Amino acid sequence: MLSQRAILWAVTGGAVAFSMNAYAGRQVEFKSGIVWPEPKMVTPGKTNAEPPADATVLFDGKDLSKWNNGDNWEIKDGVATSKKSGISTKEAFGDCQLHIEFATPEKIEGKGQGRGNSGVYLMGRYEVQILDSIDNPTYFDGQCASIYKQTPPMVNACRKPGEWQTYDIIFNAPKFGEDGKVTKPAYVTVIHNGVVVHNHFELIGGTFYDRAPVYQKHAEKLPLNLQFHGNPVKFRNIWIRSFEPLVGKKPE
Ligand code: MG
Repeated sequence: MLSQRAILWAVTGGAVAFSMNAYAGRQVEFKSGIVWPEPKMVTPGKTNAEPPADATVLFDGKDLSKWNNGDNWEIKDGVATSKKSGISTKEAFGDCQLHIEFATPEKIEGKGQGRGNSGVYLMGRYEVQILDSIDNPTYFDGQCASIYKQTPPMVNACRKPGEWQTYDIIFNAPKFGEDGKVTKPAYVTVIHNGVVVHNHFELIGGTFYDRAPVYQKHAEKLPLNLQFHGNPVKFRNIWIRSFEPLVGKKPE
């Protein structure tokens, strides 16, 4: 009987020999011919939580002047706490990188969707859920870091109630045709407390409580919303970066 090793050699031998020959020969560097602009230098923050030089700081502990309805929330000791209503940025964003820190209430009250509920609404319509998801059963596609009613996070990376947590979110806005149909869906990558919980997840539409996800044509850029769902959820250190791919040119 052939050993596993022998079978592997028989199966891969040809490919291995081919790539070995390529390395042995004289190689000519491939050049695409595209002339790229030099990527702009961006001084990163001292930690990954600190805003890089080109970020828009949405909350630095002082005030919520960059937000509509910011007066509804309480600001104390550098922390904004959700109250009365949701808040939305005055500026609109499309493709973006968002950093946000939050803490669900230390004092445990309510259960399921009623415990430590808030949410990050990208473009005001695509929610990355915020919830106390430590010993708090609820539907999985509604737990903390879920894309609400579309997918649970790959893992539960939650910290305890009252402890500071981070989301680093990379979002690609959807594109729509003239007829209103989506031509390119939205994608989201979410890193929760340093752990990847969504990797380029394709959204199937807006996130709703009472109906199936569906896309509805909207502007290329829209405000970011933070939800008020009846619970005092704390926030600090919120910043966002719009980004777009570099465009290179191929000389005539
Ligand atoms: Mg929510």
